[in-house]
Amino acid sequence: MFWGQATIVGGGYIGMETAACLSKNGLEVTLVFPEKHLMERLFTAEMAAFYEKVYTDKGIKLLPGSLAASFEGKDGHVSTLNVPLPFFVLDFIYDALWLAAGLVG
Ligand SMILES: Cc1cc2nc3c(=O)[nH]c(=O)nc-3n(C[C@H](O)[C@H](O)[C@H](O)COP(=O)(O)OP(=O)(O)OC[C@H]3O[C@@H](n4cnc5c(N)ncnc54)[C@H](O)[C@@H]3O)c2cc1C
Repeated sequence: MFWGQATIVGGGYIGMETAACLSKNGLEVTLVFPEKHLMERLFTAEMAAFYEKVYTDKGIKLLPGSLAASFEGKDGHVSTLNVPLPFFVLDFIYDALWLAAGLVG
């Protein structure tokens, strides 16, 4: 089993599923997504609040309002995710990165 820190980009269906699975398998999970709440396209704020509590109670960190902008890597491995916030850029260092950003285009 793999232990470590996982960052997931995307707060939709796939991001939520992935977060739940990785957390259940012992990883420390952070979910980065630009909307105000999870599954904004489908959930009302009240529905999302229910799931967000379940997730945060399990130790999953949620970062709403965060858009992944770029990645940095070394020797063919992605190692840092850059998330610009209003006054600084948050750099995530992690052991595993999942892209669950939906259909882009
Ligand atoms: C009108 C419509 C009807 C549908 N009906 C059905 C149905 O009846 N049954 C069915 O099974 N499927 C249906 N689908 C398909 C289903 O919605 C998708 O398959 C599913 O939502 C895909 O989930 P996802 O998590 O991959 O993407 P999404 O739900 O699109 O989530 C992507 C997430 O990634 C985030 N993201 C994107 N870029 C970044 C970035 N740079 N940084 C951080 N976060 C980012 C987005 O903001 C979002 O939070 C429908 C889709 C549409 C559009």
